[in-house]
Amino acid sequence: MCRLGYSKKETVEQTPSITMKHLRKAGFLKGGIMSGRPKWGTIGMTVLIFEKDSRIDLHYRDTSWHSNGKSISTVSIPLISSPCRFGGLRWEFICQLEIEGKPCGRKVRAIYKVGVRFGCRLCQNLAYRSTQRTRQADRIIREAMERFYKEEQSEHP
Ligand SMILES: [Zn+2]
Repeated sequence: MCRLGYSKKETVEQTPSITMKHLRKAGFLKGGIMSGRPKWGTIGMTVLIFEKDSRIDLHYRDTSWHSNGKSISTVSIPLISSPCRFGGLRWEFICQLEIEGKPCGRKVRAIYKVGVRFGCRLCQNLAYRSTQRTRQADRIIREAMERFYKEEQSEHP
């Protein structure tokens, strides 16, 4: 998407996401195949947990001109598990979004939906709201210091 001028980054909090926490709570990670929808509901999802090659399939309505808004497209995101220190498995998504022609490959606990792209926070260029707040605070402090410095300069030439 192309944006003109200054615009604040979208934040993690305002972007639809699928998290491992949610999948685990909803019983998707117990094994086998399960279908459902995330809470925000505009896509379908199927989680396939196998001994090898586990994945989540995300189904969304393809609204591009050539599909007449009728066809359903699916994007697959591989899931990887590693044993937890205290038993059980820790599951992660492997981000498939391509950066300069190469899949990202980051292992992440949450996948975000921006348009019809599903990927990690970094690929989707999302900020945490708290980080934005910090940056804003930094700017205000910097401006106050500059003002103070200028006033000092003019009082003591
Ligand atoms: Zn990524």
